[in-house]
Amino acid sequence: MKISKREPEAKNSAAESWRDFPAAQQPDWPDEAELRAVAGELTTAPPLVFSAECDLLRRRMAAVARGEAVLLQGGDCAETFARTTADAIRGKLKTLLQMAVVLTHATALPVVKVGRMAGQYAKPRSSPEERRGELVLPSHRGDAVNGTEFTAEARRPDPKRLRKMYESSATTLNLIRALTTGGFADLRQVHAWNQGFVADSQAGERYERLAQEIDRSLAFMHACGVDTRELGTAEFFVSHEGLLLDYEAALTRTDPENGRSYATSGHLLWIGERTRDLDGAHIEYFSRVANPIAVKLGPTAAPDDVMRLLDRLDPNREPGRLTFVVRAGADRIRDLLPTLVEKVNAEGALVCWVSDPMHGNTITAASGHKTRRFDAILDEVRGFVEVHQALGTHPGGIHVELTGDDVTECVGGGNAILPEDLHQRYETACDPRLNHTQSLDLAFLLAERYRE
Ligand code: PEP
Ligand code: MN
Repeated sequence: MKISKREPEAKNSAAESWRDFPAAQQPDWPDEAELRAVAGELTTAPPLVFSAECDLLRRRMAAVARGEAVLLQGGDCAETFARTTADAIRGKLKTLLQMAVVLTHATALPVVKVGRMAGQYAKPRSSPEERRGELVLPSHRGDAVNGTEFTAEARRPDPKRLRKMYESSATTLNLIRALTTGGFADLRQVHAWNQGFVADSQAGERYERLAQEIDRSLAFMHACGVDTRELGTAEFFVSHEGLLLDYEAALTRTDPENGRSYATSGHLLWIGERTRDLDGAHIEYFSRVANPIAVKLGPTAAPDDVMRLLDRLDPNREPGRLTFVVRAGADRIRDLLPTLVEKVNAEGALVCWVSDPMHGNTITAASGHKTRRFDAILDEVRGFVEVHQALGTHPGGIHVELTGDDVTECVGGGNAILPEDLHQRYETACDPRLNHTQSLDLAFLLAERYRE
C-alpha cells in the first residue's frame, strides 16, 4: 500500500511579508521564544471562521457599497476574558438585533450585522507607558497582551494570553452561532429581545410598538400563505481591530480552492487610526489577505492618504473589499468628509462609507471619567448622513461601541445619564460605551435621518 506523505504547507507569504516593515503598536514581548511557541501552536489550530464566510460578507458589503444595504457594526471597545459570559454576549447580540430591526424597518434595506465581538481583545495606546506617582509601567494593551492591574507582574506582556484570546474568541463565536441559528434570533421573537432590559425607557416602549407592527405584518404574511420560516435565523458576522500581527499571521490560512490567503480570526478586520501608516506592517499584511477590511479615518486623514490606502488595499476596485470608517468628530465631519468622498468617487471606486461617531468625541468629565456625550455622537452621525445626502452617495452605516448592560459610561440619551451618574456603573475596560437604551435611541434617531 502506498502511503502518501503529508506535504509541508507552502510558506504563506501573507503570514510573513509584513515582518519586513515597521509594525506600530506591538507589545514589547519579554520572551521571544515563548511568543514563537504560542504562535506556532496557533498555526495548527482550527480557523475560527471560514474563507467562504468572509467571501459572503464581502458580497454583503458590496451591497452596502452600492447603496443596497446598511452596515450595523458594534460591540465593546475592548472585550475582556472575564466578561466572556453568556449574559454579556447575549446582551450585545440582542441589542444589535433590536437596532437592526429598527434600521431595516426605516430604510427597507437589509442590515448587515457585524459584532465588534469574538476577537476584540487588543488595544492600541497613545502612550506605551503609564505613570502613577513614581511608578511607571507598560500601558494595558487589552486582555490579549497584559492585565489591567497596576503591578509590574500584571502589566508584563504574556504571549500565553494570545492562546486565551483564541479560546475566548472561539467560545464567543460558538454562542453567537448557536443563538443566531438556534431560534433566539428568529424575527418572530422580536418582542423577546426586549425582555430583561429597562422596561420604562422611551426607546424600549417605542421598540415595543414597532415589534407589534412587525408581528402584525408577519401574521398577515402567514395568513396569506407566505412561509416565514426563513426568518428563523439571522446572519451575523464578527470583527475586530487586526492589531497584533503575530496573532493574525498565525491564524492566516490559504484557501485550497482559490489559493487566496485569509485572516481566519474573524470575518472582517479593521486597521486602526494609529496603525494605518502606508509604509507600515499592518497595511502590508492586510493588502495580502482576501477578507473584507476596513480602515479608520481620523481628522488628520488627508485626501491623498485615502487615495493611497485605496490603491494599496483595493487595487482591483472590488466593491465590498474596502470600508472607510470615518471618526472625525462632530465638529469636523461636515468639513472633512466631502473632499474624501469626492476624491474616491472621482477615482470611480466603490467603497463603503461608515460612521464611527464615538472616537472623535471622547472627553474627560469633571469626575475624571473618560466619557462621550450622546448629543455629540448623534450630531456626528447626522453630519455624516447629511454629507452623503448632499453628494448623492450612500451613508453606508455605523460602527459603534455598545453593550447590552445598563452601564453609565456615556452621558445623555433618552434616559439621560448625568455626569454625576458616571461612577454608578462605569465598567468599560477601555472607552465609554452606549448602554442598551442609548443604543436603541441612536438606532431610532438614525432611522429618522435615513427616512429624510
Ligand atoms: C477603537 O475602535 O477602539 C479605536 C481604538 O479606534 P481608532 O483606531 O479609530 O482610534
Ligand atoms: Mn474604542
